Amino acid sequence: MRNRTLGIAAATGFAVLAAASAQAAEVNVYSYRQPFLVEPLFKAFTDKTGIAVNVVFAKKGLVERLKSEGAASPADLIFTVDIGRLHDAMKAGVVEPVKSDALAANIPASLRDPDGNWYGLTTRARLFFVSKDRVPGGGIGTYEQLTDPEWKGRICTRSGKHVYMVALTASMIAHHGKEKAEAWLAGLKVNLARRPQGNDRAQVKAIHAGECDVSIGNHYYYRKMLDDPKQRAWADSVRVVFPNQDGRGAHVNISGAALVKGAPNRANAIALLEFLSSREGQGLYARVNGEYPVSPEIAGPEKLAAFKADTLSLARVAELRAEAGRMADRVDYDG
Ligand code: FE
Repeated sequence: MRNRTLGIAAATGFAVLAAASAQAAEVNVYSYRQPFLVEPLFKAFTDKTGIAVNVVFAKKGLVERLKSEGAASPADLIFTVDIGRLHDAMKAGVVEPVKSDALAANIPASLRDPDGNWYGLTTRARLFFVSKDRVPGGGIGTYEQLTDPEWKGRICTRSGKHVYMVALTASMIAHHGKEKAEAWLAGLKVNLARRPQGNDRAQVKAIHAGECDVSIGNHYYYRKMLDDPKQRAWADSVRVVFPNQDGRGAHVNISGAALVKGAPNRANAIALLEFLSSREGQGLYARVNGEYPVSPEIAGPEKLAAFKADTLSLARVAELRAEAGRMADRVDYDG
């Protein structure tokens, strides 16, 4: 069980909006998230409210685009994954705060900006994939244990500079202080089976191939691998272990959204955020995408257990990212 409790407020205001709206019934989204991940959610919103959701999808450059478009931008919302990218959008000055009782009630404080500049809409746990064959149950339970001598030459990870790893390191700084966190990262590097390379799934592939016994990855890749005939054997070769369940909980990150500064369809944009944070929107995220709802009161994805999440503020993680990145350089993590 996750250790957060909060009430779920229904998304409200749709009727008011429809009646009062002099603007077109639409909302414009710039999305780093892929179409298959957000379109089912946007369709449910349109079905419910009559508000059309127009989306520009891109892999990069959306913040730059918002900067160059300035006040003329048609965009109302920006969607992305990782606290780092939401924080970068905030720092770039292209978003503005939202105050909403529904968002405050539906989204735990640790998963939104204290000033409302960004909101987490789903969580992703950064967990361990461990070899079924070579690691007995109870073999590894905490991030701290990754530096134990018994794991020497047995761990695979992606680059220490990737946003997922940087956020995890930042959380270690928040919990243990700079010095201990740096010793941890250096110790983890010592235990690596190979130079950091590839994505989260590539590490599980390496476990399947016998190159290493433990990897660090985001939870949703487990289901993705199970659903892919070519990758199924990789997933079948590992167990999923949620770290630090007897302590602070597993490190989580978010996918989320922010209101674009000067959004032309501001009220509709906030209505969309509120819908996505509602019980209905959160349930869809879990069922369709295999993402964890931001509230532990709502059932998580199939094939994955409920777990205890670290409640460390992601705003704090964001502040420590730069230091975490420098730390990866200092210990030459990728070298
Ligand atoms: Fe990912």
